[in-house]
Amino acid sequence: MIKKFIRRILGTTPKTPKPAENTEPLVFGPEAHGIDLDDVSSNAIRVTETLQRAGFEAFIVGGAVRDLVLGHKPKDFDVATDATPDEVKRLFRRAFIIGRRFQIVHVMFGQDLIEVTTFRGSSSKEAPKDEHGRVLRDNTFGEQHEDAERRDFTINAMYYDPDREEILDYHGGMQDIRNRTLRIIGVPEERYREDPVRLLRVVRFAAKLGFTIAPATRAPIAVMAPLINNVPAARVFDEMLKLLMSGHALACLKQLRKEGLHHGLLPLLDVVLEQPLGERFVTLALANTDERIGQGKSVSPGFLFASLLWHQVLEKWNAYRAAGEYPIPALHLAADDVLDGQTEKLALQRRIATDMRDIWAMQPRFERRTGKAPYKLLEHPRLRAGYDFLLLRCASGEIDEELGDWWTDFMESDGPARETLLNRKPDEGSSAAPKRRRRRGGSGRSKNEGHSGE
Ligand code: ATP
Ligand code: MG
Repeated sequence: MIKKFIRRILGTTPKTPKPAENTEPLVFGPEAHGIDLDDVSSNAIRVTETLQRAGFEAFIVGGAVRDLVLGHKPKDFDVATDATPDEVKRLFRRAFIIGRRFQIVHVMFGQDLIEVTTFRGSSSKEAPKDEHGRVLRDNTFGEQHEDAERRDFTINAMYYDPDREEILDYHGGMQDIRNRTLRIIGVPEERYREDPVRLLRVVRFAAKLGFTIAPATRAPIAVMAPLINNVPAARVFDEMLKLLMSGHALACLKQLRKEGLHHGLLPLLDVVLEQPLGERFVTLALANTDERIGQGKSVSPGFLFASLLWHQVLEKWNAYRAAGEYPIPALHLAADDVLDGQTEKLALQRRIATDMRDIWAMQPRFERRTGKAPYKLLEHPRLRAGYDFLLLRCASGEIDEELGDWWTDFMESDGPARETLLNRKPDEGSSAAPKRRRRRGGSGRSKNEGHSGE
């Protein structure tokens, strides 16, 4: 306590962090961590203040602290406290206890959600596990230092008290941030075994933050990769979605490849990264996604997964057609095959699968450029997504750019100009406008439109 007090007064850190049992944190004052209170969510501060005034400990924790120290804008704010879920709920007007196994409290302020968790205890040694060592249930409450020990990476295990403007750092997270190092807490093999999703999280954070993975954290990854197969599909899906929507999806996929994680990790990734034809398409799709997220725009998971699996669909579509099936039924058969093959491992939600199928099913309809067909397609509720997808197919070299250009023109024109386009033969179009190459990252139209918000 005295040491902590002195450090608090000085607002500095001792030269060498004390790893020992990690029950006492290093304490960093405002000069050391550099967090500007204006960057902290006022709702998160309301939650910590309310809890503290009621006599509890309360801190902003996890990704938000890491991002604030790094000068990034946090995605969301989580709070950790020694109050039990019931005690938390009583203090707020709109608070809901969710989760059966490990209860957390959602405190709502309008649309804004602050997730409040009670410090978890360090009982994972005794916790029930599956035959591969994956922890099935582990729901005891505990001390703050135990809570810190159960978090995944040192940089994710820091606690920020907005009132004192102090960071409590139990595992050398501040130093790792300074050195741009991603380091798992505890014995890496044990931590991956307890929860193999952490293998994906390493990759996501390393790619997203541009951090180097500490050698001991990195060494077991490739060997332990098959453990992912024992994780419930819904959790893998959630983590994959976070990875793909991180704004650094391309970097993440490259990192997965570098770590040897794409093999056998997920059928999806095997498919994505191993097919030369599809690689360009996927690269363009992800670059486009990253760009949209970087600009603060939304991205639809359906579009993303439709892109990732398109070349698998294409291959099967061609096979069914070669076997004599008509194009449209052939495409539906191909979509069925691909979706059936993925859902077992990936738990694609029905809504997402429906979006994917819509986007795919629209593709042959873009080829019909006469009569009423193009007008009917204009009314399709997912037209934007289908059209963006068409542009990606053009940009990747799968189909002639002329088709995408024609649709861009058709969508941007009005009555008479549309009729002219309908009467134009496809080859006239391509020779008439060969140099009108628009920059294709999947978009030949104004930047603030998109498939995703629909
Ligand atoms: P992001 O900015 O991407 O949301 P995050 O660090 O906030 O990153 P979350 O998945 O929101 O990531 O998790 C919040 C915190 O919960 C993490 O910072 C970490 O401390 C802890 N955590 C999450 N998942 C795990 C896990 N699988 N094992 C251990 N700790 C975890
Ligand atoms: Mg988070």
